[in-house]
Amino acid sequence: MKIFVKSAIVLAAIVFAQQSAAKSADPVAALLVQDARLAVVADRMLSANDRLCRQHMPVTGMFLHSSDQYRAGIAGQAFANGPIAVETVVPGSAADLAGVESGDGLAAIGGKPTSALARQDEAPLRDSAYAVLAELVGQDGLEIVVNRGGQQRTLHLQAPEGCRALVEILSKNEIGARSDGRVIQINYGLAADAGDDELAVVFAHEMGHLVLEHRRRLEAEGVEKGFFGEFGKNRRLNRQVELEADRIAVHLLANAGYDPAIAPAFWRTKLGRRAGGGLFRSSTYPSPEARAELAEREIADHLPGGRGPSYPAHLLALRDKPFN
Ligand SMILES: [Zn+2]
Repeated sequence: MKIFVKSAIVLAAIVFAQQSAAKSADPVAALLVQDARLAVVADRMLSANDRLCRQHMPVTGMFLHSSDQYRAGIAGQAFANGPIAVETVVPGSAADLAGVESGDGLAAIGGKPTSALARQDEAPLRDSAYAVLAELVGQDGLEIVVNRGGQQRTLHLQAPEGCRALVEILSKNEIGARSDGRVIQINYGLAADAGDDELAVVFAHEMGHLVLEHRRRLEAEGVEKGFFGEFGKNRRLNRQVELEADRIAVHLLANAGYDPAIAPAFWRTKLGRRAGGGLFRSSTYPSPEARAELAEREIADHLPGGRGPSYPAHLLALRDKPFN
């Protein structure tokens, strides 16, 4: 887990446009391809593991974005129907079945007009829309109003409940991923190089930090990341949460119907070794081989038959214990 400043999110498409101009003629389209892949994985993982989480939201299957996430002009067409728009829709999801389409502008959520939404701190408008959506958890049916080509349509979603998280591809080409207790971000460079199973493993690890509430627990201990995180107690606890995330990741995968063996397999691939160790070898992270062995041991000890459903009480209990 890397703790990051919120403004990093806003920079997304801006950084992307600069870094990958040479790689892709249309950076926004390239980003959309990876967001669509991630949306499929995220929907499946968040809804399948609902009972392992303590914070919930409706899992709609629509990924939102807002025009304030982009440098002026680079994504104009995407917001023809409004400043908060549907970026991608997961096939077969609640949003898909309700008739939501990519490119729809979001005019209202649960009766609340999105024109009344304001940005919170440095976060984009998109985040405020997700916050409204998350509050509607537990209701029977979810009503949204979309703008499409000058027409307004009211659509009704039967969205399952899932773990609460904001998920996105961050427009950086370097290999990396992070979560901060609220948002799970996977770098464009990692997603683009990863196969679908590999993307699921990376997501499962980051989601593991979220499920085990690592941000809150580390903050309660006053733990720092970055340079000072390499020393003493900081180092020990930062490393401990990485191990915990790797262990619960295999349960999260199994609950979502993946073979959890894809986790140890990933840490042994070339990409997994790069993602697992970081560009600069950090003492915070165990070696990729140690991570693979840890995952294998967790499967052998706590996942009979290597499949779900799994309720890993031995790991979930850690949320309410002080670090030892
Ligand atoms: Zn981590």
